[in-house]
Amino acid sequence: MAHRAGPHFLQIPGPSNVPGRILRAIEQPTIDHRGPEFQELAREVLAAVKPIFKTEQPVIIFPSSGTGAWEAALVNTLSAGDKVLMYETGQFSTLWCELAERIGIHPELLEDDWRRGARADRIEERLTADKGHEIKAVCVVHNETSTGATSKIKAVRDAIDAAGHPALLMVDTISGLGSADLRHDEWGIDITVSCSQKGLMLPPGLGFNAVSPKAVAASEAAKLPRSYWDWKGQLANNPGGNFPYTPATNMLYGLKEACAMLMEEGLDNVFARHERHAEATRRAVRTWGLEIQVVEPSEQSPVLTGVVVPDGYDADDVRKVILDKFNMSLGSGLGKVKGRVFRVGHLGDFNDLLLMGTLSGVEMGLAAAGVPHNKGGVQAAMDYLTGNS
Ligand SMILES: *Cc1c(COP(=O)(O)O)cnc(C)c1O
Repeated sequence: MAHRAGPHFLQIPGPSNVPGRILRAIEQPTIDHRGPEFQELAREVLAAVKPIFKTEQPVIIFPSSGTGAWEAALVNTLSAGDKVLMYETGQFSTLWCELAERIGIHPELLEDDWRRGARADRIEERLTADKGHEIKAVCVVHNETSTGATSKIKAVRDAIDAAGHPALLMVDTISGLGSADLRHDEWGIDITVSCSQKGLMLPPGLGFNAVSPKAVAASEAAKLPRSYWDWKGQLANNPGGNFPYTPATNMLYGLKEACAMLMEEGLDNVFARHERHAEATRRAVRTWGLEIQVVEPSEQSPVLTGVVVPDGYDADDVRKVILDKFNMSLGSGLGKVKGRVFRVGHLGDFNDLLLMGTLSGVEMGLAAAGVPHNKGGVQAAMDYLTGNS
């Protein structure tokens, strides 16, 4: 491929752009993962990651993608044939459900239309009907990356409590962590599942399970076979700065830097920055006269915006034109919304001018692809960012 001058705009909702500070942190000689220097690093990073999850409980780190961390959450706490309740927010909830089926769990999917977050009232209703407490876990995606819906996790916790149900609460915040507020301890989450390549600004390669004492107790009785994903070896080794097998050493250097960057900016400021960029993006989309995939305003994601293209147009054509002409990658429509939706990521190491470059690329791309739209979306976003709207 010919050289293209200037940076590529990686505006998919994960993997996100990796800042120079993190790249430089990773670019170190790999050290002995059983030596004292590593043990100090491991202890530091295992502690540094906790405030990002807003937890005092252990956070287990796997050398894996997010999918591995999903599997780890299930195999550690459940037995073959156990029922779990899942909520269909979009493609990622669907994939988690399929994974559960493949490993011998019986998921029940509360179906929905991919245009909003998980509805706590429906979860409460289903759990209330489960008088025999056959449902062992409720699994919800915090930030559904295929649509741009953020579910209200506190409301799901309250729903479980209102039903007086003992099910574990498992939350996928793979694309929410470090971008949208999530409180593992305060919200009574039993397992928070995440990974490195979205809000944490790292390359792909680390998976996380933050675990409550109730989840650890469940793991002692759970019978699904597990070895690589077993929490036991991790929980036994981590306090001494060790892992049961070779960890992703260099990624841990990067994780330490990522946690430092998030804490320097302040988590609340990080969340507010994401909210502000999301609002500017939505104003641009509305000005263009295009529809936002998620209809409920309070559930529109700070991480990404799913944009619906008009009937008769293909979102993947728009993406291709934008990649070819402007060297920017946008997220494709996944599963049910393939070709209908493109996704604009506004997460991670991101600022006003990167957002303006991104939205300019989209507006120019809509014109180049011949998609009917109104002009002025970029202007509407600028007006919002400068307080002139
Ligand atoms: C990216 C993502 C996943 C899958 O993670 P992988 O690292 O691709 O395995 C799962 N859930 C959500 C919400 C995601 O955004």
